[in-house]
Amino acid sequence: MKYYSTNRQAPEVSLSEAVIKGLAPDKGLYMPEKINPLPQSFFDNIENMSLQEIAFEVAKNFFGEDIPAEDLKHIVYDTLQFDIPLVKVNENIYSLELYHGPTCAFKDVGARFMARLLSYFVKQNPSQKGNVHVLVATSGDTGSAVANGFLGVSGIDVTVLYPEGKVSEIQEKQFTTLGQNITALEVDGVFDDCQRLVKEAFMDSELNEKFFLTSANSINVARFLPQAFYYFYAYAQLKKTGKADNVVVCVPSGNFGNICAGLFGAKMGLPIKRFIASNNANDIFFQYLGSGHYNPRATQATLANAMDVGDPSNFARIVNLYGGGQQKAEKITPEAAHAAITAEISGATYSDEQIKLAMQTALKNDGYVCDPHGACGYQALIDGLKTGEVGIFLETAHPAKFKDTVEPIIGQQVEIPATLQRFMDGTKQTQKMSKEFADFKAFLLNNL
Ligand SMILES: *Cc1c(COP(=O)(O)O)cnc(C)c1O
Repeated sequence: MKYYSTNRQAPEVSLSEAVIKGLAPDKGLYMPEKINPLPQSFFDNIENMSLQEIAFEVAKNFFGEDIPAEDLKHIVYDTLQFDIPLVKVNENIYSLELYHGPTCAFKDVGARFMARLLSYFVKQNPSQKGNVHVLVATSGDTGSAVANGFLGVSGIDVTVLYPEGKVSEIQEKQFTTLGQNITALEVDGVFDDCQRLVKEAFMDSELNEKFFLTSANSINVARFLPQAFYYFYAYAQLKKTGKADNVVVCVPSGNFGNICAGLFGAKMGLPIKRFIASNNANDIFFQYLGSGHYNPRATQATLANAMDVGDPSNFARIVNLYGGGQQKAEKITPEAAHAAITAEISGATYSDEQIKLAMQTALKNDGYVCDPHGACGYQALIDGLKTGEVGIFLETAHPAKFKDTVEPIIGQQVEIPATLQRFMDGTKQTQKMSKEFADFKAFLLNNL
């Protein structure tokens, strides 16, 4: 399968190139050239299949031309070493709990899949000397998902840069206690310094001559496409209960990678009636749905901070998916794309006060503890479900990840799951780093 760039100025590439490059040279996002529908027989029997079996069928549809079935099966099964249960919240609302992986957030799925796919491609390429080095700057969550996703994966090592004293202890412990192929650098600066160091490293010719550096960025097709797996599994679990005729899926959205994967699922034939994209105060997409104009803004800090995105990168993918991109074959006007998008996706937006209230309502009325992101999903279903519809919201992270925020709001303690507790009990191992590129470069030259 070929992958084209949403900007259509860069050549089409193979899957391995798209995965290794991440972003296209024209700064566009890679898209698969075609989306094959899955056969009706698959949907007829889906409720009898396991998460791994379903994911393997979906994965073959995307990656089957590029990776032999046995290898792909191994990657999929090794990625999904945890369940993704659909939990009943009330008569017509279900929560898809995406937080049973190693870092208790949905990004585990994409990060683990990408690590295994990248490792596979590295082994396929004998001219590749030494390891691939993933450099990642983090303000908290990305670092933990990527570090844990790549932990112990052969042929790859990861260097995480984070701002000293600016990451919560529970987040910090998730990528500083790992050891093995993961190194954490505690930078004497802010997140932007970390990001600048990583960007400069990617542009440094000496480093790039010596080493194979890559970013494991969230827009990477290998992180984004596997997120489609669990939409199918959610549907399968709902179908088992006999309530899957009018399914509405609601996705708390920031960069829009997660919902975009669901939209790909729908294009493959998954019978989802419609989607709701729920925003916090960073409601650029919500505004777009209403006006047809996409106006990125400066990011605003909110309680649901993983959704604090003022210019969602996957917007370009959504527009392309609905034919409004620069895809030459089926270019349609921005107005027609907007009409196609609003026909299938509606929006919601919640202030911090409303998010708090949603968390309290979910507990009081339904006995369910939401994290601040999931709360945006829950509330959008409460507000937007129509008669006869059954709603699934994606519970994107475990509430314990935001313990300090959640507990005062809901007025009760949140139990820390064993996976998170294990990190808390680990020993922090970091190296201090100045914010000068020369120091960072010297470190890489001496340590990689
Ligand atoms: C990343 C993240 C989101 C936003 O997902 P997108 O794919 O960027 O839309 C929502 N909730 C949590 C907990 C996250 O970590």
